[in-house]
Amino acid sequence: MASDPNCIFCKIIRNEIPSKKLFEDEDLIAFEDIRPAAPIHFLIVPKLHIVSLQQTDLSHQNLLGKMMVLANTLALKAGCRPGPQGGFRVVINNGEDGGQEVNHLHMHIMGGPRPWLRA
Ligand code: AMP
Ligand code: ZN
Repeated sequence: MASDPNCIFCKIIRNEIPSKKLFEDEDLIAFEDIRPAAPIHFLIVPKLHIVSLQQTDLSHQNLLGKMMVLANTLALKAGCRPGPQGGFRVVINNGEDGGQEVNHLHMHIMGGPRPWLRA
């Protein structure tokens, strides 16, 4: 399904619950994680309700590529330091064994000077 009425991230996409948005276009939305694990921690989320990478195939390659490229652009905009001394972490949890809690595909971007709160 394109959108799940009970999914928390679909509700954020539909503006039914608030979020601190960093970016939005026709395919993707990015907003701050409500429980940050690092000084900078936001999520990049496709507007299409895809449960996890386990539900993706070649038809999603443009969307997934766009998420990866946006990660760097938004990380820098959010204050992650450039270059080898800076950088950021990208995490996608998939399924129960992968530690996924929200069942709508999302990419965590975490950065900022160490030490981090949890990582
Ligand atoms: P995961 O374990 O990869 O499914 O991570 C889900 C992430 O979503 C966690 O880091 C939560 O803190 C975050 N999260 C859950 N609800 C919200 C919300 N309403 N707004 C922003 N982030 C959220
Ligand atoms: Zn959803």
